[in-house]
Amino acid sequence: MIQAPISNELFLRAQDSIPGGVNSPVRAFKAVGGNPRFMVSAKGAYMFDEDGNRYIDFINSWGPMILGHASEVVQEAVQKAIPSSLSFGAPTRKEIEIAELIISMVPSIEKVRMVNSGTEATMSAIRVARGYTGRDKIIKFEGCYHGHGDSFLISAGSGAITLGVPDSPGVTKGTANDTLTAPYNNLDAVKTLVEANKGQIAAIILEPVAGNMGLVTPAEGFLQGLRDLCDQEGIVLIFDEVMTGFRLAPGGAQELYGVTPDMSTLGKIIGGGMPVGAYGGKKEIMDYVAPAGPVYQAGTLSGNPIAMAAGMAMLTYLKEHPEVYTQLNNTTDRLVTGMQQNMQQLGVNYTLNRVGSMFSIFFTDNPVTDFESAKTSDTALFGRYFNAMLQKGVYLAPSQYEALFVSTAITEGIADEYIKANLESLKEAL
Ligand code: PMP
Repeated sequence: MIQAPISNELFLRAQDSIPGGVNSPVRAFKAVGGNPRFMVSAKGAYMFDEDGNRYIDFINSWGPMILGHASEVVQEAVQKAIPSSLSFGAPTRKEIEIAELIISMVPSIEKVRMVNSGTEATMSAIRVARGYTGRDKIIKFEGCYHGHGDSFLISAGSGAITLGVPDSPGVTKGTANDTLTAPYNNLDAVKTLVEANKGQIAAIILEPVAGNMGLVTPAEGFLQGLRDLCDQEGIVLIFDEVMTGFRLAPGGAQELYGVTPDMSTLGKIIGGGMPVGAYGGKKEIMDYVAPAGPVYQAGTLSGNPIAMAAGMAMLTYLKEHPEVYTQLNNTTDRLVTGMQQNMQQLGVNYTLNRVGSMFSIFFTDNPVTDFESAKTSDTALFGRYFNAMLQKGVYLAPSQYEALFVSTAITEGIADEYIKANLESLKEAL
């Protein structure tokens, strides 16, 4: 039995000084019950909390730690960069090098601008798409999450749906009116919206594999259908690859599915654990960004030398070691097969969605292909399952509406521990 008295005490104390005791909502375990664990260190597949408990980590900082925690590859690069200055506010050689590296990896990117988070990347990308097209409206998909920019907190996934606020107060009606939404995987619904708003849609933005309503895969032809529609209508197609970028393939979901958007947004792995995001795309579009063009976007710490050193080390490693993706696929095959066998043994048939090293178990028998079907999951059962896994030292995303991320630090032995914990936790939760 894992006890966490120090974490409990810290969580009480945190609530006096930090809203809800956390600096990002879904960390609070609100949807699953119980108190969050306060972490002190992490190495490889494991995280250690204030009470000295060890957890096998399947969140990996919500994606970035694809090589496991405290990877020497990234840490050595950061340590080497520190003595030269934490920030200049002037250009550096490293910024060109990372831009060139990103361009060489991500099919849609011909020019790229570095920012400090995924949220900044998506906010900036739609501003540029609006500036480029001279149009105001955007289309997003129900259950997709693109960070906390006003335009995206409409039918939003991730922490927003977990806490029951997919349409956040504080977003003005004017902004909300410019965001149209369609069900994920429903090309006809998108065509109807485009038809009804002819010549007014600046951009269609989506997660090419959705990870923020739990994992939902794009139906056959969905991505290509959007590509064709955007070409016909002069709409900028934006893939939000903050989660999937550098994870599903070196070039992200666009490489895996062979569909190239006009713009892409990146985050998470791109900073190797440091706060980094980026947006990029066709030269013709990116040349609208200041100071090359009229669309304003800036950042005091953008292209920060320490963050760039971390990102450069991470991306270089991934580019030079394609076997990482084979390993991640094999590990995830093992995890998913084990879970399927467990469910068979227990006579239950929950939906397992998976692409590469991302997966979700939905506590529903229905196929999960969009937000509506994701919401048929039994979230109370998920909460019991989550807490049973936590008690066995397995740290999952504390919400049904999140994907899990596998790192290269998950060995076959650790995968088998996970599968055993999964069986016992399912039994306890049912
Ligand atoms: N887009 C997607 C697809 C994401 O998953 C996230 C965060 N999970 C974001 C954007 C926002 O990124 P950040 O939290 O770095 O602002």
